[in-house]
Amino acid sequence: MLGLYLHIPFCDGKCPYCDFYSLAGEESVKEEYTRRLEKELALWAEKLAKEGVPPVADTLYFGGGTPNLLGGNRIARLILAAKEHFSLQNAEITVEVNPSSELSGFFREIFAAGANRLSIGLQSAHDKELKALGRRHTAQQAAETVEAARKAGFSNLSLDLMLATPGQTLESALSSVQFCAELGVPHVSAYLLKVEPGTPYWNRRDSLPLPDEDETADRYLAVCAALEQAGLMQYEISNFAAPGFESRHNLKYWRCEEYLGLGPGAHSFVNGKRFYYPRSLHDFLESPQPIEDGDGGTLEETVLLGLRLSEGITPQTLAPFGKAGEQAFAAMEKKSRPYRAAGLLKPEPGHIAMTPKGFLVSNELIAELLPE
Ligand code: SF4
Repeated sequence: MLGLYLHIPFCDGKCPYCDFYSLAGEESVKEEYTRRLEKELALWAEKLAKEGVPPVADTLYFGGGTPNLLGGNRIARLILAAKEHFSLQNAEITVEVNPSSELSGFFREIFAAGANRLSIGLQSAHDKELKALGRRHTAQQAAETVEAARKAGFSNLSLDLMLATPGQTLESALSSVQFCAELGVPHVSAYLLKVEPGTPYWNRRDSLPLPDEDETADRYLAVCAALEQAGLMQYEISNFAAPGFESRHNLKYWRCEEYLGLGPGAHSFVNGKRFYYPRSLHDFLESPQPIEDGDGGTLEETVLLGLRLSEGITPQTLAPFGKAGEQAFAAMEKKSRPYRAAGLLKPEPGHIAMTPKGFLVSNELIAELLPE
């Protein structure tokens, strides 16, 4: 079954580290955009059926931007459109939100429409750090958001944290973890800040008070341990969950399963092909034209994405590639010995999986392990 992703490209300001596609939007533009997405969902279901791909999905994810800025009624309409055209049985339906004191009505509306998971952009439990990140909310508002979500009926809640941000210390990062633990959410995503070219942070990168590489590594490892201590087990480089609360939608990306993404900047992997929409709201509203991005689901990609997961890869992961998969696994198993000894890979043979220490050097490690 497919995963569905709808990109909601509206934000009420731009955070200085952000390179996602988002912009301010008038109500009339939001309405036009919702209609365009409704139309695209219908067109894509028809197109896929013609190509022999059943238009059936079991996850729907509203990402952004700031999806709550679209309003509860429009999100509800899009959930209904997805249900109508893609069946969506027993689906995980996630909506990303940014903390605010005014989300009670929004939560009631989307919960009634079938949304059952929220991903809340907390980033830090310290207002000074939030300010440095250009965020437009406080930690108190994040706690109120969690409370309002629970009152509306949501129990599957995730909080986003950022690590190695300007002014953050090891102690303040750990107290942000404590804040999440006290709120009792079953899922946390903890991302290391990456200063991306083209962002205001990039232009100021030499003067930003950022931790050095060693401090960043210590912080990541301490946060991984603290989250596990709080009962949230690491299942991906940046993701931690109580058992059964892993993000079903995001697991599709890492397990190389297929998904359809709609909206400017959204990526897809459907029927063996990857494609994406250009980062232009104007073009998407006028005439959405996906750009081809080659074949997906190759052996290399399966290894690359699978190694992001704590479960790693086994011979079974590469079974769809037959003899080539068997040979690739055997070659990687052989190359992995010194990294197991160094504590970068888990020790159990027959299974290649990184430890948190390994995740810190995942790109280099994957490059070493990948078969020629
Ligand atoms: S709220 Fe999120 S998507 Fe919007 S600018 Fe900030 S980081 Fe980017």
